[in-house]
Amino acid sequence: MQTKEEKLAYVRAWNKRRKLILKDKVDALLGFVCKRCGFSDIRALCIDHVYNDGAAMKRTIGNKCGYVSTVALYRQVLRAPERYQRLCWNCNWIKEFERRNSILK
Ligand SMILES: [Zn+2]
Repeated sequence: MQTKEEKLAYVRAWNKRRKLILKDKVDALLGFVCKRCGFSDIRALCIDHVYNDGAAMKRTIGNKCGYVSTVALYRQVLRAPERYQRLCWNCNWIKEFERRNSILK
């Protein structure tokens, strides 16, 4: 018979393993190079919404505060990989800056 702590540790380990499996699949799809500038340090790469619909995604699959878990994001990427791309954080913020400027014009 497992204690409550042992069951919790098992579930946490299983969730971590599941997240890593999904991460590997997403990495294989998106690669490790920024689509805009070619930067390739994984520490500064992120997943970008190609069509700038990240806020809409948060409204549909996020919790009350709009938080979307990493696992939920990975599942979205695997469902529709053409809607996502790998960008470095600089290019991601530059893209966001350009998006906001285009709204103001
Ligand atoms: Zn870049």
